[in-house]
Amino acid sequence: MKTKIDQVTLREVQIPLKESFEISSGSEQQRRILLLEIRDAAGTSAWSECVAGSRPNFSPETIDTSWGALTQWICPRLLGKEIRSHTEVHDILETDFRGHRMAKAAIEMGAWALAAAAKGISLSAMLGGSHKSVAVGISLGIQKSPESLIDKVQRALADGYRKVKMKIKPGKDVEVVRRVRHAVGGAAPLMVDANNAYTLEDMDRLKALDEFELMMIEQPLAWDDLLRHAMLQKELRTPLCLDESITSVDRAEDMISLGSGRIINIKPGRVGGFTSSLRIHDFCAKYDIPVWCGGMLETGIGRAYNVALASLPNFVLPGDISPSSRYWERDIVSPAWTMTSEGYISVPVDRPGLGVDIDVDFIKSLTVRSETLRS
Ligand code: MG
Repeated sequence: MKTKIDQVTLREVQIPLKESFEISSGSEQQRRILLLEIRDAAGTSAWSECVAGSRPNFSPETIDTSWGALTQWICPRLLGKEIRSHTEVHDILETDFRGHRMAKAAIEMGAWALAAAAKGISLSAMLGGSHKSVAVGISLGIQKSPESLIDKVQRALADGYRKVKMKIKPGKDVEVVRRVRHAVGGAAPLMVDANNAYTLEDMDRLKALDEFELMMIEQPLAWDDLLRHAMLQKELRTPLCLDESITSVDRAEDMISLGSGRIINIKPGRVGGFTSSLRIHDFCAKYDIPVWCGGMLETGIGRAYNVALASLPNFVLPGDISPSSRYWERDIVSPAWTMTSEGYISVPVDRPGLGVDIDVDFIKSLTVRSETLRS
């Protein structure tokens, strides 16, 4: 759909998390979030969220590098330009412009939402989604004690979550997972995510996880590695799932050719947006690689994009798209995202665009800096 972006407003909001979230590379208590409000020449607007964190511990990008990339290069490349279709934004931003995928994704996905709003259809319909509701998993940070993790896992299963992911790191892995598995029984849908905390020297420890019937082990090795993951996968019965290493459809192809994993966690921000996510989704469908949608502690705005993406047919495993109340006292959208007792979030297919209202006054009250760019 033809479009012309006239104005982009960047806002940094700061929101405390309900509980701090610890992964192998550090913990997070307060989220600094970059929101975009994008307006086209016809006056339609769409909000989007950049998922870069405050520190470069997940990817090299941060909220500050994203702010710079958006204001200096990304927005100037798009503002005032006749764009034949929102599907072209990805390639426009990739031409002679390396990296900064999370920053690019924020506006690329916003362009999809803008097109959906202008057309009067849901973002899910715009993407070609087919699921009317999406299965939800929870991601649990590293806990102080095994008892507290067991308690949280049991509570999550009782709440209806369809997948429970436990963050692990060396020393907080095999014995902890053993105790959880023992406490919740063999059938509970458990998985672990190491966020790059291991090397091949830890082979025995990683192999020891095989006995716990985990759905998958997510990204145990380096954030940009594929080869060593292939060596590891050969030794493991449990499927490896790649997250950080998959930044484009080319890397997904590499994963499949090398045998570096059997599942992909697609985070649209990590891969540069929706066009790239769709390419990975379609490629994986062709090779029977299941995918699921990861999370980056998004507000209700980022969550709307994840829910729409997870409505695509090959998203066959529960995504890390917990309801708003898991993270926030009060979300910046209404209605807040809620989960049924069976662990599903409905896809708002009957509302155009994101399918939620943006609480602009609340966002303004949380804003610590803003900048508006015009064509
Ligand atoms: Mg992960």
